[in-house]
Amino acid sequence: MLCSNPYILTTKQDKKTGKRIELNSPLTIPCGKCDLCLSARAKKWAEQCMLEAKLTDAQTHCNLFITLTYADEFLPENNSLCKNDLSVYLKKIHNLNAGKKQKIRFFAAGVYGDILTVLIII
Ligand SMILES: [Zn+2]
Repeated sequence: MLCSNPYILTTKQDKKTGKRIELNSPLTIPCGKCDLCLSARAKKWAEQCMLEAKLTDAQTHCNLFITLTYADEFLPENNSLCKNDLSVYLKKIHNLNAGKKQKIRFFAAGVYGDILTVLIII
């Protein structure tokens, strides 16, 4: 586990009594918020997507990697991704796929910033 700011638990709640009891040895829990935790999370999702792409049956699933971007004139007012825009796009894809045997699953990530300062929101 890599984490720059882990939680260290020395006690836990007893399920029967509800009281805090000492652990035999401290338990280290990743914070889930630092750059190392976010990087590990992104890597885990990337591996999940690659495994699904590799192991799914081509008869029933189709693997596509699609990049959607806003043209400058269509950027939302707050310069943030609009989940409804993605929903509308996915509904169109589902409608185009209606009646076909291939199922559609998706993984969406938002990327903010230029190539030097990228922030990925999953
Ligand atoms: Zn962390």
